[in-house]
Amino acid sequence: MTDHWSLITESPQEECGIIGIFAPDEDVARMAFFGLFALQHRGQEAAGIAVSDGNAMSMYKNVGLVAQVFKPETLTGLQGHYAIGHTRYSTTGSSLIRNAQPFMIETMNGPLALAHNGNLVNSLQLRDELLRQGVGFSSTSDSEVMTMMLARDAGATWEERIKDAMGNWVGAYSLTLLTRDCVYAVRDPWGFRPLCVGLLPGGGYAVASESGALRTLGCEAIRDVKPGEIVALSSNALTVTQAVPPVSPSARCVFEHIYFARPDQTWDGVNVHAVRQKLGEELAREMEIAADVVIPIPDSSIPAAIGFARVSGIAYNDGFVKNRYVGRTFIEPTDSLRKRGVGMKFNVINENVLGKRVIMIDDSIVRGNTTGPLIKLLKNAGASEVHVAITCPPIVHPCFMGVDMGTYDDLIAHKRSVNEIRQMVQADSLVYLSLAGMMRAVGRSDGYCQACFTGTYPVPVDVSSAKTGFERGKK
Ligand code: SF4
Repeated sequence: MTDHWSLITESPQEECGIIGIFAPDEDVARMAFFGLFALQHRGQEAAGIAVSDGNAMSMYKNVGLVAQVFKPETLTGLQGHYAIGHTRYSTTGSSLIRNAQPFMIETMNGPLALAHNGNLVNSLQLRDELLRQGVGFSSTSDSEVMTMMLARDAGATWEERIKDAMGNWVGAYSLTLLTRDCVYAVRDPWGFRPLCVGLLPGGGYAVASESGALRTLGCEAIRDVKPGEIVALSSNALTVTQAVPPVSPSARCVFEHIYFARPDQTWDGVNVHAVRQKLGEELAREMEIAADVVIPIPDSSIPAAIGFARVSGIAYNDGFVKNRYVGRTFIEPTDSLRKRGVGMKFNVINENVLGKRVIMIDDSIVRGNTTGPLIKLLKNAGASEVHVAITCPPIVHPCFMGVDMGTYDDLIAHKRSVNEIRQMVQADSLVYLSLAGMMRAVGRSDGYCQACFTGTYPVPVDVSSAKTGFERGKK
């Protein structure tokens, strides 16, 4: 996505959605399209689908939303029984067409395509090693490093080659891989990113970042791809291999529950919508503020506001109407429209806030670009007080596992107290949910990465390997 809407896309950006399909009697490209369409919220910069018919592989990818990239005739040109797809938000490597996925190459073992959700923390070292061995790269993405490592591996089968490579990869990777006659689903041993597989109603299997995308395709019997597993989709039965032992405790990204995933996502038995309601309930228990109305920032904060209202006894109402499509255009706004900032995306329902003490629920504050302007919109509409309640603790550390939160300097809570942030955004009060409250809402005290709140990373991180590290390295 071009960056002229950056002022109104303050939330942390998810890194990618992936899909894989084996369906012998279906139009797999069309199925992959609708699967990606259901994963559009995970990345809006580029999309691609690669397909194999058992002999030849073909692929199409471009910059844009899924529905902008694929036309009916594009999909008709992608024939086969096996498909993988990707919708991208840039993580490692900037947002260029050459970084769009899947990555497809010809190897000595036949064609290979890869779609990746996550970020390797040791990709710079791995890339330097390959460069020294004479391997060239066409992009700046860690996903191409993974593709090249698989292409060069000496293992006898694709399972062996994937297993070998997994031994060298450190960080977050949920992958779908396409070979001439198989789709593989692979999840890192820490389990950072979700990945699940389901049975298609007409026969065959599909794998996707979120269970909601599988249900869009009519899948039944959905199960998670477990940390460290390789799942092969190529015949009537799934072949599951525990390629590397799972790391204990695992490190599922807790932000999937707070913000990224669709509310219909169920991950390791935990439903996202239920967690968000409980986040709101926990906030209400920790916050003692008299108010007349609770309003969410749509969409991700709606369940939390419902939970908050239920526990606090303060009435829930809608305060903002969101234009869900404004950031999803490549048409650049005029200067005067750009100056309207969040006002281009949110309108206030004046009647619902006029003269009222408002509690505004939001999922997170990252850079702090939008909180102040949203408070101003409410006050301009006549709210007498605006209290801000956030459904997670302050984000004080960047993410190296594939979520774009910027650098330390970008984070408003880095080196600032809650009261300093409150003054900056001009809220009457500001409350963050405690770490313990957040984990109570998730329902488990461990097994989750919380590094952006605590600074305790589940894997060793190197600041120079952060976003666009490759480009910096080349200069
Ligand atoms: S640092 Fe935060 S955003 Fe990144 S994986 Fe961990 S919990 Fe998720």
